[in-house]
Amino acid sequence: MRPVIDLAEDYSATTYEASPKLREQAILRDRTCAFPFCNRLARSADRDHITPHEQGGPTRSANLGSLCRRHHRCKTHDGWSYVMLNPGTYYWCDPHGTQYLVTPATTFLLPGTRGGPVVRARQRALASMRATAQGMPNRRHQVRPFTGEHAPASRTHQTTAYTSTGRIAGTGGTDPPPF
Ligand SMILES: [Zn+2]
Repeated sequence: MRPVIDLAEDYSATTYEASPKLREQAILRDRTCAFPFCNRLARSADRDHITPHEQGGPTRSANLGSLCRRHHRCKTHDGWSYVMLNPGTYYWCDPHGTQYLVTPATTFLLPGTRGGPVVRARQRALASMRATAQGMPNRRHQVRPFTGEHAPASRTHQTTAYTSTGRIAGTGGTDPPPF
């Protein structure tokens, strides 16, 4: 019988190595590597101390992100940095200042980070990420700018509103007003 694991609970360990419970929690919570646009499964990834252990970063849920070996190296050596905002939700900044919001379902490019060199860096990053993603058979992350609003839901709602307005306009004059 497997122990019940609360994905939002902040578990901790006194050791550098994540305990089996911490490890399983991070796998279930993150599902994939926490790096922007990476689809590698969390189960085969490393458990990264977001704030390094030697800098006082604890071995606990809020400080352990799942990173595949390649992206673990990006974070350790190539100037990428991240924080966990909520369980399984990460804010990343690349070496050129481009920022990303990574959730278990998708990656958002954050606005306000676009500029000449940044755009080129992002395009290079996207091209390599797409190449990586094409090698992955299952889940594809959607790429869309994060606008801070629930875009799909509000767009659907808007479309419905326009349609009903059009219908009212088209039949205006024959139907009685709805009051
Ligand atoms: Zn990765």
